[in-house]
Amino acid sequence: MQTHQEQAAGWIERNHTLMAWAVRSQDRKATYIGSLQREQTGLKCDCVCPSCGGRLQAINAGKPIPTVPVGKTIRPHFRHDAGQQYESCLIKMSQIVALQLLLQEKAIYLPP
Ligand SMILES: [Zn+2]
Repeated sequence: MQTHQEQAAGWIERNHTLMAWAVRSQDRKATYIGSLQREQTGLKCDCVCPSCGGRLQAINAGKPIPTVPVGKTIRPHFRHDAGQQYESCLIKMSQIVALQLLLQEKAIYLPP
């Protein structure tokens, strides 16, 4: 039986998942690639990976997010400036985004 971590890693591998969120250096907030402007492309996005701590480049910031899969080089995403993106980078970022969205939306039900 696979662990949750192994299942998540397998899903990422099968879907060739690109990093759509990153952590902004200045305030440590999760930031969606679609919220950036064109002039924030590359290292100007001032974002880091919350898992490995690496600086991230915003690729194609400010361009429309396609609703159907297109080539990896076209779809806006974050890319590690040096080194590579590990599965742990995507998993950690997903955990932070999920928590941030739940706290913002207050959409989680906790029994008394
Ligand atoms: Zn990373």
